[in-house]
Amino acid sequence: MVDGEAIRSWLSLFATEVARNRDLLTQLDSAIGDADHGANLDRGTSAAVSAFGTADHSSPGSVLKTMGMTLVGTVGGASGPLYGTLFLRMAGCAGDAERLDAPAFAAALRAGLDGVVARGRAQAGDKTMYDALSPACDALDDALAAGRDIGDALSLATAAADAGRDATIPMLARKGRASYLGERSVGHQDPGATSAALLVAAAAQALSG
Ligand code: ADP
Ligand code: MG
Ligand code: MG
Repeated sequence: MVDGEAIRSWLSLFATEVARNRDLLTQLDSAIGDADHGANLDRGTSAAVSAFGTADHSSPGSVLKTMGMTLVGTVGGASGPLYGTLFLRMAGCAGDAERLDAPAFAAALRAGLDGVVARGRAQAGDKTMYDALSPACDALDDALAAGRDIGDALSLATAAADAGRDATIPMLARKGRASYLGERSVGHQDPGATSAALLVAAAAQALSG
């Protein structure tokens, strides 16, 4: 069961991984964007970690709401509203529950993905964060339906997110700044898919217990 503290550990670990990979995310965004994805996300996730220190974290929904509001308020660009929406939709799905079982966590992540789509209209193959998040949600659902525990299911989701991230390399970007490059976006890994894979990997590490 995933409680508010577990969600806080997950999102704090994500912040640590974003900080560790800040230069990589910036470098990827310099190839097909404006070289700010690492700085954008690092600013937002570290602000969220500070907010966790004072905000209510008695339930998953309250922690997710703090994360979403902080990202919307601090990240900017395309990824701020998109990641913000992801976590706010997750919060809405989690509601006031004190704990989420594995299917409820998977349903919340799926609701977050649906929010990203509602906001950004990305489809599979557009070379965005969707291309890492969507296969991760599918793998998580499939593994839980097959009776795997949350740890196994999140490991499979991580492998799916990593494969989805790698699959963005040959894609032609159809959304966001990278789409302005047309054919020149081909051959580069998408920065948002890269950060999204870090988010899923952090869930596998923090929520497997
Ligand atoms: P900006 O492009 O405004 O500088 P960032 O660099 O922080 O914002 O984020 C860029 C990432 O946002 C891209 O790599 C891509 O994964 C994601 N992205 C951009 N537009 C969309 C969209 N419409 N739907 C989903 N993801 C998107
Ligand atoms: Mg950028
Ligand atoms: Mg920007």
